Amino acid sequence: MSTREFDVLIVGGGLGGMYAVHRLRGMGLKVRAFEAGSGVGGTWFWNRYPGARCDLESLEYSYSFSDDLQQEWRWPERYGTQGEILRYIDHVAERFDLLRDIQLNTRIKAALFDELSNRWTLTTEEGEQFSAPFCIMAAGNLSTPRVPEFKGLASFKGKWYHTGLWPHEGVDFSGQRVAVIGTGSSGLQMIPHIAKQAQHLHVFQRTANFSLPAKNAPLEPEKERQHKAEYAQRRRAAYDTPFGISGHPPPTQSALEVTAEERQRVYEAKWQAGGSISFLYAYNDLLVNKEANDTASEFVRQKIRGIVKDPEVAEILAPKDHPIGTKRLCLDSNYYEVYNQPNVTLVNARRSPIVEITPEGLRTDEAAYTFDAIAFATGFDAMTGALAEIDVRTTAGANLKEKWNAGPRTYLGLMVAGFPNLFVVTGPGSPGVKSQMILAVEQHTDFIADCLTHMRSRRLQRIEAEPAAEDAWVQHVNAVADSTLYPLANSWYVGANIPGKPRVFMPYVGGVHTYRRRCDEVVANGYEGFRLRA
Ligand code: NAP
Repeated sequence: MSTREFDVLIVGGGLGGMYAVHRLRGMGLKVRAFEAGSGVGGTWFWNRYPGARCDLESLEYSYSFSDDLQQEWRWPERYGTQGEILRYIDHVAERFDLLRDIQLNTRIKAALFDELSNRWTLTTEEGEQFSAPFCIMAAGNLSTPRVPEFKGLASFKGKWYHTGLWPHEGVDFSGQRVAVIGTGSSGLQMIPHIAKQAQHLHVFQRTANFSLPAKNAPLEPEKERQHKAEYAQRRRAAYDTPFGISGHPPPTQSALEVTAEERQRVYEAKWQAGGSISFLYAYNDLLVNKEANDTASEFVRQKIRGIVKDPEVAEILAPKDHPIGTKRLCLDSNYYEVYNQPNVTLVNARRSPIVEITPEGLRTDEAAYTFDAIAFATGFDAMTGALAEIDVRTTAGANLKEKWNAGPRTYLGLMVAGFPNLFVVTGPGSPGVKSQMILAVEQHTDFIADCLTHMRSRRLQRIEAEPAAEDAWVQHVNAVADSTLYPLANSWYVGANIPGKPRVFMPYVGGVHTYRRRCDEVVANGYEGFRLRA
């Protein structure tokens, strides 16, 4: 098969890959993106489980690169459902004619850099080959669904599903005996919906998670009008905030500076208003001081005890093993309330772990259960899973899987030393997953696009991260994480959900504002930490 040649190859047709196509094509570059799905949208294409919805507000969680787009698009609700977000994504693809440069139904299996020609060659599962001087990995951070290796899964006579690979036609659980395994964001969103249909639902919870009410509602026309009138300023302001979201003034007070009554009043107001960022912004030390965090954690535990009528069930649901916010803080609609329904049973899978899946259902070390269907909400091989599925090498002998064996290493989350001309969008070491993701992919892609313009104007062919710059960045990412409470949780941020995965804190939690400033300094200092060559 002949190899087709491009200027830039992009792996992924989600929000990151789509923007990369648009941005780089605008520079006159010949690009091709590859997407495994039969449609664009990444996360929003695959995660079609009932109740799937974004936990950031629609007016923020959207592209900023086109003012016409952001002014014209109408979001019906405060938070977009999976269906609404996918409609938006399909609209963007059509409006900017992106599909002509995105090859769907195509999974990349290998990426090889030739040190002599300075070109990447990508090979698809079907054996097609494409080559270009530059390659951008925009394959997603939560795009490799993971079903735990339970003994006996193949013997199950009912149907099973994973939230991240949900059937497009939907699933009707009416009258069925259903198990949901996993209580992260996906499980929490899905459980109230399945509970409405199922004859009986058993939820297997290993670790209790904190969740706050989303308080979703139709988007108020006045709020929309005002937000759109200030869109440009708001988008700019978002870059100066830790999470990349405008409209939440950074807190100035410690939780320990105020009286217990004052804290209660503030937490209650945030609880009633809904939203996770606003809650974590109640005080300036909730993510760095355990004593301060305890006040917020206890507030939510008390809420759970107030909602769930059975005190034993409430205690199992009240998280006690990690500070609030150190795992992704969930947003829900009527999650805790569901445990007051007679057709819902919570199983403490920490006390009695799942031993095996049986032909009829599953067995814990205490009891056997019969199910018609099992829904796995067991998460993803986060942040490194998608790249681990591609055999990324160079002819100089570098191998990404080997290099990341003890945990991912990057410079700014953008490049990996030893892999020239290979960029990563929102990779490990970037604040991507800890921020408004669409802002993050735009910022990363703009950095890459500006870098390519810089190289073109100087007739440079090759860029790579200097090993010393990478070492320093990895150290910095770890030092920042260690100055917070984040490492206290067994989260996917440290790969804890994947047995055998090295425990390394992967996202940069210094905030979007700090990261963006660092990227700007790097550029101002002539791409400091990168080696550029003709
Ligand atoms: P997750 O947060 O990793 O949760 C996976 C769940 O499965 C955890 O409760 C985990 O328990 C459980 N689990 C894994 N293996 C198990 C086993 N062998 N036995 C019993 N339980 C097991 O995954 P997720 O809910 O799919 O969410 C992943 C991320 O996607 C979120 O943190 C968020 O960033 C994103 N997301 C966002 C939204 C949104 O915007 N609304 C919605 C969904 C997802 P342990 O905690 O004990 O490991």
